[in-house]
Amino acid sequence: MSDLTPIVIAHRGASGYLPEHSLAAKALAHGFGADYLEQDVVLTQDGVPLVLHDLWLEEVTDVARVFAGRARDDGHFYAVDFTLDEVRQLNLLERRAPGSAARLREGRFSADQVRMPVVTLDEELAFIRALNASTGREAGVYTEVKFPAFHRRHGLDASRIVLETLGRHGYRRSTDKAFVQCFDPQELARIRNELHCGLRLVQLIGENAWGDSDADYEAMRRPAGLDAIARVADGIGPWIPQVLNWKPDGTPETTDLVALAHARGLVVHAYTLRCDQLPPHAPDLAAVHAALFGLARVDGLFSDFPDRTLAALRPAGLPCGTG
Ligand code: CA
Repeated sequence: MSDLTPIVIAHRGASGYLPEHSLAAKALAHGFGADYLEQDVVLTQDGVPLVLHDLWLEEVTDVARVFAGRARDDGHFYAVDFTLDEVRQLNLLERRAPGSAARLREGRFSADQVRMPVVTLDEELAFIRALNASTGREAGVYTEVKFPAFHRRHGLDASRIVLETLGRHGYRRSTDKAFVQCFDPQELARIRNELHCGLRLVQLIGENAWGDSDADYEAMRRPAGLDAIARVADGIGPWIPQVLNWKPDGTPETTDLVALAHARGLVVHAYTLRCDQLPPHAPDLAAVHAALFGLARVDGLFSDFPDRTLAALRPAGLPCGTG
């Protein structure tokens, strides 16, 4: 696997340039030549899969203005509390800092007045299929089932709905240009063994300190944990610091995670490359790309700036999408 050209996954689309998960961000990433376009999926009250990263809507839409008073006691406007018809009234915005009207990342897309709807998974898959046809270049899909346990508590089977939608659009087998990703290891095993998903699966790995899940991410990164993942999945999606860090003098240093994964036949797709938020002590973007691909030997990278990652990987003059 390590002698193949690594893949570039457009993280929430070309989200460094346009509101994340807007169709515009997906179209731009497709035009850049990204190998895969990412979808995060959460469900509406009526069980419609939306392409949305958070459980709530307020950090990437104008929901707080359109549906003032519809937040729960914790202040969040949960997507699962809104019907698709209601979500259709919202406009995507560049991501805000939590609890604030300020953009999370200065310098990113600023035209809030431009209408961009929240997209359903069905619409996005149709959009990508049509773009693949009209350009003659096939970008793959890389779909994450978000918060399956939360959805189950609301009577919704997120995985089943996502897999059925992918299947309707022709994504069913390991040879199809698609990955399904999830942070929840029990759910990933269920996706494989109970829902009989034939697509390639990726176990996402977070940090126990994030406290966002019951999963033991530390155990996952040890040999026995990776053995267990390899029985279910085709790859892992670690956070960049789990594979590579920089010493204060700017020297890169790898962990053993990629080697342990490769020894078990697992590909490694690391997240997330952001040109405007480089890892601590990393000297510059070129050094980050060189270390991730040349030293850490990851097989793919989630990038907010897929054009920059593609440029680092593919020498000038080669058409996009080769290898
Ligand atoms: Ca994701």
